[in-house]
Amino acid sequence: MLDFMNVYDKYETVIGLECHIQLLTKTKMYSSDVAEYGALPNTNVSVVTLGHPGTLPVVNKRAIEFAVKLGIAVNADIREENQFARKNYFYADLPKGYQITQDKTPICTGGYITAKMKDRELRVNLTRIHMEEDAGKSLHDIDPFETLVDLNRAGTPLLEIVTEPDLRSGEEAYAYLTEVRKLVRYLDICDGNMEEGSLRCDANISVMLKGSKIFGKKVEVKNMNSFRNVQRAIDFEIKRQIDLVEENKEIAGETRSFDAVKGITFSLRSKENANDYRYFPEPDLQPVFITKEYINEIKAGLPVLPDELFNIYTKEYKLSEYDALQIIDRKEVAAFYNDLVKHTANQKSAANWVMGPIKAYLNERALTISEFTLPSKKIAEIISLIDAGKLSNSAASQKLFPALVDQPTKSAEQLAGELDLLQNSNSNELQGFVDQALAKYPEKINEYKNGKVTLLGMFVGEVMKLSKGKADPKLLNQLVKETLEK
Ligand code: ADP
Ligand code: MG
Repeated sequence: MLDFMNVYDKYETVIGLECHIQLLTKTKMYSSDVAEYGALPNTNVSVVTLGHPGTLPVVNKRAIEFAVKLGIAVNADIREENQFARKNYFYADLPKGYQITQDKTPICTGGYITAKMKDRELRVNLTRIHMEEDAGKSLHDIDPFETLVDLNRAGTPLLEIVTEPDLRSGEEAYAYLTEVRKLVRYLDICDGNMEEGSLRCDANISVMLKGSKIFGKKVEVKNMNSFRNVQRAIDFEIKRQIDLVEENKEIAGETRSFDAVKGITFSLRSKENANDYRYFPEPDLQPVFITKEYINEIKAGLPVLPDELFNIYTKEYKLSEYDALQIIDRKEVAAFYNDLVKHTANQKSAANWVMGPIKAYLNERALTISEFTLPSKKIAEIISLIDAGKLSNSAASQKLFPALVDQPTKSAEQLAGELDLLQNSNSNELQGFVDQALAKYPEKINEYKNGKVTLLGMFVGEVMKLSKGKADPKLLNQLVKETLEK
């Protein structure tokens, strides 16, 4: 039985991912049709998209710019002379009968993406990134008898990112995809919504005995609509393939689909019957040349990217890795935080505010940080009141903060005053309270001096009462101690 349990440990999994990201351009890859999600079916389809005879494609400059941005961000080599190629196949949602893509001259080669796993950093090398256009959409589940076709998506710009077979588990694939999504969102080239299909991923999976140098036969799995499902599909496939090998059965080179309800993969088509795409150079498009100057210009305009932010947050600001990753996770949250630390030097407290009270406030109201109306400067004002000992943390987060969101034109200090939240940090006045409280307990003072130091809390409590709860606890503790020890 034990042997059976360990069977899976004898094997190593090899995974390479092919991701398609839909670019946030206004128009399509080779025509001026609007590229938008959710338009009425078949409304963004000009004769170019439909491939009518005599029409000519024109390359979308913005799509080139986006490809170069991504290439720089992943440290890839960017090709100077970019040719386009026709990939021919017949399908109802492909009106031209071919897709214009890149074959032998992908715009980017090499490069890598690093993902943060719980206990380590994962480096995934990239094989290539190339530009292509999307097909339309066949809708099988709207009419009970017919398949409907929406060609709005036909011609939408895509970048395909192909990894080396560097991944070893479903968990690693999940971490890599999370990083891809973060990166394309920071670069503002794709909205990264896998559920809406603007980020898609096919997984190539094989298994081999641990330590082997020769990869097993790979199976390609498609149709996963979330990161979680990519991980589930891979985990299922690993087990299926190992079971086959253990039974001395052959693994078929095939394309499979993932059924999210059953949690299984099933065969779509065998690789033997694979299409011959008859690639050839696209005769209607001139090659696009990308100069060094152009690349440098794009480089200069790149935003600060997640990896660099992580270094700044952990090394300069001394945030924990966990806090840093939480803030970086969403570009808008990081932008708010970056703005906040322009107004306060207390970066740690700023991080706590962003991940604590602000996040809770937004969550309760189902808002995103882009909808948060309080300027970051006001949060910095609150932090400085706390740091000056004028305001307690709990009064700040529970009372002053929500009040300030409602009355953002007031200064934090003014509003804290109006709400009677300001602590007494005036040591002269406090000293008066301390003397008053201690005068009541001459015997207890003797006990304290004879070693019963636990009485300190009682004295502090008495002074706090006299101050009506508004004394700064830290300062108060110190004053009481000093007075007792005089
Ligand atoms: P194909 O010719 O079938 O498209 P490629 O060699 O272009 O295959 O690779 C496609 C993807 O499959 C890449 O991401 C690559 O890393 C991955 N891959 C290649 N061989 C294997 C393998 N044996 N096991 C798992 N993934 C693989
Ligand atoms: Mg290939």
